Amino acid sequence: MSVLVLAGTAENKVLKSAFEAVSYGAKIASDAGTDLHVIAFGGASSEDLMGLGTYGANAIFVEKSINNTQPFQMANAMTEIAGKVGATIIVVSYDETGKAVAPIVSAKMKAGLVAGVVDFADVSNGVIVKKSVFSGKAFARVKFNSEVAIIGLTPNSVGAKEMAGSPEVKDANTTMGDARITLKETKKEDLGGQVPLPEAELVVSAGRGLKGPENWGMIEELASILGATTACSRPVSDLDWRPHHEHVGQTGLAIRPNLYIAIGISGAIQHLAGVNASKVIVVINTDPEAPFFKAADYGIVGDAFEVVPKLIEAAKAFKANN
Ligand SMILES: Cc1cc2nc3c(=O)[nH]c(=O)nc-3n(C[C@H](O)[C@H](O)[C@H](O)COP(=O)(O)OP(=O)(O)OC[C@H]3O[C@@H](n4cnc5c(N)ncnc54)[C@H](O)[C@@H]3O)c2cc1C
Repeated sequence: MSVLVLAGTAENKVLKSAFEAVSYGAKIASDAGTDLHVIAFGGASSEDLMGLGTYGANAIFVEKSINNTQPFQMANAMTEIAGKVGATIIVVSYDETGKAVAPIVSAKMKAGLVAGVVDFADVSNGVIVKKSVFSGKAFARVKFNSEVAIIGLTPNSVGAKEMAGSPEVKDANTTMGDARITLKETKKEDLGGQVPLPEAELVVSAGRGLKGPENWGMIEELASILGATTACSRPVSDLDWRPHHEHVGQTGLAIRPNLYIAIGISGAIQHLAGVNASKVIVVINTDPEAPFFKAADYGIVGDAFEVVPKLIEAAKAFKANN
């Protein structure tokens, strides 16, 4: 028995979610008194990979010839390594790559897969996980009854905890197997240096209350001062005021940042579905009855065009003095 974690990579870099997944796997391995193995794909630097050791990885298998556009080949390699190390628990961060790969591994290994896991697994008697259900409105505790359990961890659920360790990095040398689907990148969105939304810890988001695309300058300025990523409600991206990759909610991205600032967004249930797991929610809205205030940790009833410039000034002054 051992634990195997998929460390996601993109563009030759280890993703932030990978550190969390490895840290999560390390806790399970320690609770279960077993080893933690990690598998990574693509050309991440060995320095980057060694960084995973400080989150608990004992051994890292690297398959350089496969990358995250090849989910079937990744799944083949993971299945092979899982068999080699006798993995009975597999952890993947349930981001774009995890969502593509984990179901294939599940089918290949006849392993149960629970997606949307938001807390550490209880491995004292089988494997029990807590997952969010009904768009984050409730939680379910699920016990695996398969021999191998695949945990799809929602990114930014438990964070990554550093610990001492220097892993052995090995060439995975897996057989490539079939490649029934290879993803092809057709368009690359320019994020203007911002952290991608699924990885962002701070998010400044705005809605139709901003009246038009010409008013996003202050949103971008606030985000830039805070080091945050910009997001928006669905009508805003539908109206082409903002790019579609910023759309959060039930039909957009589901995110869990540490801070979500919602400006001129009503807080419709479909919007909340994608953001209500944020650690701290700040709402700025002219309407004191806006539903978003019910989900807010801090609320400002006020006009965005007055409040946001004041926030920008306050953030600038704070930065200048600290
Ligand atoms: C099947 C389905 C899926 C959907 N999926 C999504 C989704 O994924 N994401 C999503 O966002 N929506 C989604 N929607 C749409 C959702 O129901 C809402 O219509 C949408 O979220 C509203 O966007 P909004 O809050 O920006 O706009 P509005 O509802 O128009 O709200 C604007 C808010 O701004 C406030 N405001 C106005 N002026 C100011 C000002 N000067 N300063 C401060 N505040 C001001 C208003 O009081 C109001 O609360 C979905 C709908 C359906 C039916």
